[in-house]
Amino acid sequence: MTAGAGADAVVVRVDRDRCIGSGMCALSAPGSLALGTDGLAEPVAEYGTDGAELTMGLAEAVDFCPVEALTLYSARGGYRIAPAE
Ligand code: SF4
Repeated sequence: MTAGAGADAVVVRVDRDRCIGSGMCALSAPGSLALGTDGLAEPVAEYGTDGAELTMGLAEAVDFCPVEALTLYSARGGYRIAPAE
């Protein structure tokens, strides 16, 4: 996975024990998430450095995941961005 840590960098984590392979996240954030050969989601690039647009796509993916398998973190601060705790 490509790494980058710009000002807007985020990290997305996939809980593959929860993922059911619906593919919703790959539609919302195609540059960041895709379905792997096992049919479950995986990060394309762990760090998104394209700023607000990518972050928004990932935040949307987190919201749309039907089983809450996605979590978005700040790459810089390590704090959780979404879903809200
Ligand atoms: S939206 Fe959730 S359940 Fe569907 S593929 Fe992505 S992580 Fe898996």
